[in-house]
Amino acid sequence: MSATIIDGKKLAAEIREEVALKVAERRAAGKSVPGLATVLVGEDPASQVYVRSKHRACEKLGLNSFSHALPATTPQHQLIELIDELNNDPRVHGILVQLPLPDGFSEEEVLLKVSLKKDVDGFHPINIGKLAQKGRTPSFVPCTPAGVIELLKTTGVSIEGKNAVVLGRSNIVGMPVALLLVRENATVTSCHSRSQDLPSITRTADILVASVGKAEMVRADWVKPGAVIIDVGINHVDDPSAEKGYRLVGDVAFDEVRAVASAITPVPGGVGPMTIAMLMHNTLKAAELAD
Ligand code: NDP
Repeated sequence: MSATIIDGKKLAAEIREEVALKVAERRAAGKSVPGLATVLVGEDPASQVYVRSKHRACEKLGLNSFSHALPATTPQHQLIELIDELNNDPRVHGILVQLPLPDGFSEEEVLLKVSLKKDVDGFHPINIGKLAQKGRTPSFVPCTPAGVIELLKTTGVSIEGKNAVVLGRSNIVGMPVALLLVRENATVTSCHSRSQDLPSITRTADILVASVGKAEMVRADWVKPGAVIIDVGINHVDDPSAEKGYRLVGDVAFDEVRAVASAITPVPGGVGPMTIAMLMHNTLKAAELAD
């Protein structure tokens, strides 16, 4: 078997196109233009790259964006004051605090402060709480996990009743993915660094989501034949033959797992592009909710 490649670039482009169209319609109708404010604290180069690409996406799709960069020495109360200002700014429909915050900040206090109506990252504890509760609907769902579900849905494989295994339980990826899969009526196993004998667990998975950040950890013999594989991991591995001296790989050994699975996301070009597409989708939704 050679798995179908799940094309995240294509799906993300479709979502972005739809957002751009709806933003243009809003402009034409004299409605507010969706606005995203980003808050970056410190100078982590990877976070700077992520924030820049979010602004670029806003620009391309016709959304407004507002950039706030604060030094890592900023006192917590100043960051909270900024969030308050953004909560009260009618031009801002979505607030994205780039995580992780530098050491010394209370991420929990900051995320609690973001207005629920502007929580386009979906990390407000109330939104995450609602995600975990039956019969509740969070205003926003975290972007990468939402992208994982959208990608699964493109395969045409029904999630309901399937055994899903999620590797990783972080607040931003693994746990919300597991919660979303429960909401989709899968039977979900959440694995982490203390889980024992991972291959025996992953081999039960009809749907396997890898979000651990360990290059090519998932091997072919970890995978049940015909499983659907979503690889969230982004890892740099040294490669002297590459122009930059490294290449990106996922948490899944793509070439060998491809021969066993029925569908698989590549890295890059799988989950990665979906994150920003879902952020743009959520920011448009925030503007619509504010109408
Ligand atoms: P974290 O480091 O926050 O979490 C990693 C999780 O994996 C933890 O739950 C940890 O367990 C678990 N873990 C670590 N090592 C092992 C192991 N050997 N066996 C089993 N579980 C293990 O990472 P993130 O969730 O933030 O990110 C995960 C990956 O996804 C990274 O590669 C990151 O770059 C990528 N990513 C991609 C995005 C995209 O847009 N495509 C967006 C965000 C992240 P424990 O809880 O016990 O410590």
